Amino acid sequence: MVVVMKAGATKEDVDRVVQKVKEAGGDAHIVVGEFKTIVGLVGDTERFMELPLTSLPGVESVVRIGKPYKLVSRSAHPTLTDVKVGPASVSRRTFSLIAGPCAVESLEQSMAAAMASKAAGATILRGGAYKPRTSPYTFQGLGIEGLEILAECRKETGLPILTEVVDARDVEIVAQWADALQIGTRNMQNFQLLAEVGKTGKPVMLKRGFAATIEEWLMAAEYIAREGNLDIILCERGIRTFEPWTRNTLDLAGMVVAQNESHLPVVVDPSHAKGKRSLVEPMARAALAAGADGVMVDVHHHPDEALVDGAQALEPNDLTRLGAELAALSHAVGRPFASEI
Ligand code: PEP
Ligand code: MN
Repeated sequence: MVVVMKAGATKEDVDRVVQKVKEAGGDAHIVVGEFKTIVGLVGDTERFMELPLTSLPGVESVVRIGKPYKLVSRSAHPTLTDVKVGPASVSRRTFSLIAGPCAVESLEQSMAAAMASKAAGATILRGGAYKPRTSPYTFQGLGIEGLEILAECRKETGLPILTEVVDARDVEIVAQWADALQIGTRNMQNFQLLAEVGKTGKPVMLKRGFAATIEEWLMAAEYIAREGNLDIILCERGIRTFEPWTRNTLDLAGMVVAQNESHLPVVVDPSHAKGKRSLVEPMARAALAAGADGVMVDVHHHPDEALVDGAQALEPNDLTRLGAELAALSHAVGRPFASEI
């Protein structure tokens, strides 16, 4: 962090800044230029941010240089993180397919989705037992019964399960059943929930808030990391813009920025980003081409009867085709398809 002094700032003005910084436990380096003096601050940036430096006499501006996210930042942690989810791994070195029902509705429906996912090359089964719904009058998920169904699907297919937790009070029970916990777009800034999932030590998929900046997304990941859990998979799932036809705008450039800024794997959810089946496959292919570490897609054997998000669910045949396309494309870009290793 640096403090830029005004052109006419006096030595006393500079000394006052240095004194404040030292009182806060930091150190200051003064660089006297031809027109302006710059004071470089060394120490705890978060503490310096709390100081009223901008209102001191002679101060022009305060510029933050270090990243506000530390534990998840690539500069602080250059080794890329592979996140293990049961026997699977989500990593920058491979391309992962994560698939499953949007919501767990019944054993029959979830098992059909799980089998189709496995056959298509998925290495992780997704499925919501607790659903965050815009309307309180719609299906909210089966809760614990849904977790039991997911466990049955895991037993049958061997796929580890990733499932959403929407309330801090449910973290313990969901963590008992799940291999990985999902934080959905609506809860990205539910800081208490983030800390609770961080404490479980289970891998966490953190979806980007639909109106969150990349920095806010990374700061949310920092809340999980701060509990000592770096097993975080970031998931870009579209952000809200002015265009309703494509539901959300899939921010593939944001996915790349998140990869560059952090050491965490970053996957893309084209199903929730687009809300329409016809857009899921093209966006999944685009995500792979742009370098995503995986995609997560919804599948349902009777999408017309789905209780949640049927319009975006792929049918098993579509998923099989998509899996084959993604495998071929990942070979083409020299990246192993996770289910093949
Ligand atoms: C989901 O993946 O089931 C989900 C609800 O997604 P999002 O939080 O991205 O809307
Ligand atoms: Mn959904």
